[in-house]
Amino acid sequence: MNDLLPEQSPLWQYFEGKVRDLMARYGYAEIRTPIVEQTALFARSIGEVTDIVEKEMYTFEDRNGDSLALRPEGTASCVRAAMEHGLLHNQTQRLWYQGPMFRHERPQKGRYRQFHQVGVESFGLEGPDIDAEVILLSARLWRELGLMEHVTLELNSLGSSEARTAYRDTLVAYFEQHLDVLDEDSRRRLTSNPLRILDSKNPEMAEMLAGAPRLLDHLDADSREHFEALCALLDDAGIDYVINPRLVRGLDYYGRTVFEWTTTALGSQGTVCAGGRYDGLVEQLGGKPTPAVGFAMGIERLVLLLETLELIPDAARGELDLYVLPMDDAAAGTALQLVERLRGELPELRAQLHCGGGSFKSRIKKADRSGARLALLLGEDELAHGTATLKFLREEREQRSLARDALVDELRQLLA
Ligand code: ATP
Ligand code: MG
Repeated sequence: MNDLLPEQSPLWQYFEGKVRDLMARYGYAEIRTPIVEQTALFARSIGEVTDIVEKEMYTFEDRNGDSLALRPEGTASCVRAAMEHGLLHNQTQRLWYQGPMFRHERPQKGRYRQFHQVGVESFGLEGPDIDAEVILLSARLWRELGLMEHVTLELNSLGSSEARTAYRDTLVAYFEQHLDVLDEDSRRRLTSNPLRILDSKNPEMAEMLAGAPRLLDHLDADSREHFEALCALLDDAGIDYVINPRLVRGLDYYGRTVFEWTTTALGSQGTVCAGGRYDGLVEQLGGKPTPAVGFAMGIERLVLLLETLELIPDAARGELDLYVLPMDDAAAGTALQLVERLRGELPELRAQLHCGGGSFKSRIKKADRSGARLALLLGEDELAHGTATLKFLREEREQRSLARDALVDELRQLLA
């Protein structure tokens, strides 16, 4: 679990700001749910025999003896909240959320125990138009962040639950012929969750997995049609994708469309966004049958990717424009008023006021260290003449004395 330090937080704000704008542009409304839920909610939705529920959840008993869990993902909470507040009664919903998730995993680069996701969930729409919409929404985010050429869309269909059940038997029969190659995890999953074996990253199983029967070849007719229609919509929208018949996702509630956006720029933690359709989940949790589709993206991995690829614009780094420096204590009041006036008239200005006095030398040093591009000096002379001295801290440029009334215009030009 990480602290987010002042140097890093502007990068997060940059990313989060882009996301917030984008959601509004697509007509998605934010939902915020508690970070704890009943443990049973996750066991019933994500699935008992999944990595998350089996070994990654932070579960505890509260004072009433209820079993609660820190949320490991956002979809289950979203469904719970939407049902509880009647958001799914004869209406569609397009929702998004953002916040911390918790999984007790082995920490490594791009994999943490508290991490943060942005997610989108849409309810009441069968698709494939809405499937295409959520994918296009994510694609637009990549484009606007400069990431598009660094990510790949992988797509698959898991079919109906009947098709999956039938396929499961075919798959188990195949794996039983290759028991010697299956690792321990996979043998365990053979009876509990054989589809998940397809998702194994174990290189020693790669060849055997490549030869496994493909769920795509066993789809029910409706799911096949749905998938083909989605592919056609993406083709028409100019979105490139790779069909990956082994993409199954680690959560049980998915059916039909599943997708992941991956990158090769982050080593092995290469999935930056993952999602799909979960038409059965609302009913499974006690609601009316409600088609649904969504995705979640990992903010840590995306911020890391933006940093690695040097895609964070300077303006997003949160640096100061101006350091306002009273040269002695007599100028402190005037400096305070001046910087307040500048902030009022130039809302985009990032200005810091020197506080805490100090010797002349230490004041100048603080101005230098502030990282600001400009300093505004106010001393005895400036007070007497109604001026301020504008100093360029990071450019070879002559300092200038300006009438205080002319400052707003001057700064506006310099900032533009
Ligand atoms: P992985 O295969 O990498 O474990 P997952 O299938 O468990 O991913 P999801 O539950 O689909 O991941 O979560 C969606 C996204 O959230 C992931 O693609 C990833 O970007 C991010 N994510 C998941 N787990 C972590 C984690 N422990 N630390 C940081 N980011 C994570
Ligand atoms: Mg995982």
